[in-house]
Amino acid sequence: MAYDTNNIFAKILRGEIPCTKVYEDEHTLAFMDIMPQADGHTLVITKEPAETLLDLSPEAAAAWIKTVQKVSKAVKTAMGVEGFVLMQLNGAAAGQTVPHVHFHILPSSLGALMTR
Ligand code: 5GP
Repeated sequence: MAYDTNNIFAKILRGEIPCTKVYEDEHTLAFMDIMPQADGHTLVITKEPAETLLDLSPEAAAAWIKTVQKVSKAVKTAMGVEGFVLMQLNGAAAGQTVPHVHFHILPSSLGALMTR
C-alpha cells in the first residue's frame, strides 16, 4: 500500500503536530507516546517514509535500531527500571494504528502490560 503522507507521525516529522521530543538525528526521531501504556513510554520513528519494517531500506533500518538502542538505554536509566519491552507492529492486521514504522519502548514488564 502507498505511504500515507498525512499520517500523524509524518505530520510530527514535518513539525505540523507538536511532540515531546527526547532524541533526534539525521535519520530518526524519538518522542513520548501521547497515550502511554507505561511511565516513560517512548516511540522511535524513522525519517524515511515507510509504513512497516518491510518497506524500510536496510540503511534506514540500521540507523533506526541504533537509535532504539541509544534511547532504550537512556529511558531505562531515567525510569530506574531493571528491564523494558520493545514492541513493533507491522500492518493494521497486527494492530498497527499509525502507518509510519515505529518502535515502542516500554519501561515495564510484559506481564504488567498485559494486565492493563
Ligand atoms: P501503534 O498502535 O501504531 O503500534 O502505536 C501508535 C502509537 O502512537 C500509540 O501508542 C499512540 O498512543 C501513539 N500516538 C497516536 N497519536 C499520537 C500523537 O499525536 N502524538 C504522540 N506523541 N503519540 C501518538
